[in-house]
Amino acid sequence: MRIGVLALQGAFREHMMTFEALGATSVAVRLPEQLNDVSGLVIPGGESTAISKLMRTYGFYDAIRQQHGAGMAVWGTCAGAILMARTILDALPDQEPLGVMDIDVRRNAYGRQIDSFEADLDFRGLSDGTFRGVFIRAPWIERTGEGVDVLAEHEGRVVAARQRTLLVTTFHPELTGDPRVHRFFLDEVVGA
Ligand code: GLN
Repeated sequence: MRIGVLALQGAFREHMMTFEALGATSVAVRLPEQLNDVSGLVIPGGESTAISKLMRTYGFYDAIRQQHGAGMAVWGTCAGAILMARTILDALPDQEPLGVMDIDVRRNAYGRQIDSFEADLDFRGLSDGTFRGVFIRAPWIERTGEGVDVLAEHEGRVVAARQRTLLVTTFHPELTGDPRVHRFFLDEVVGA
């Protein structure tokens, strides 16, 4: 199974290293054609405004929508989760979402005061204990549609959710050294 990691900007290397540690093959995706031979795609954390500009330049919007329609699973972490939303709240003026997942996500939701923090999360779908959430200028998920399952909440806000072959986490599992969410994506979301 090959997993693509969108490698335009942000924390893509850390995702690739975590997949490699699990024995899965990952490829750094820099051109839309590369999506033809992956079963899943990770859109990493970083700066969603920069990633969206580069996605537009290289023609990723249509390619990701099309490949997802043809069965490719997609997991967005942090900036990636913002980009997967139907609506981005507090988006920059010309920042276009992919709109593949029936959620609304608010950018930089925690504001400046507590823009980065860590918290133990009850992540539904992981049987063995809590998961350490690393939040960096994180968004939160403000609305979830009918087909969306909430997987984790923090202080009343949704921070992880899943809609069939789509997964979003507003925190950074690739920065913890704990591969359980990557395992969950491979086992439960890709090929669901
Ligand atoms: N605040 C960033 C954005 O709007 C996301 C931060 C992150 O991915 N760690 O893109």
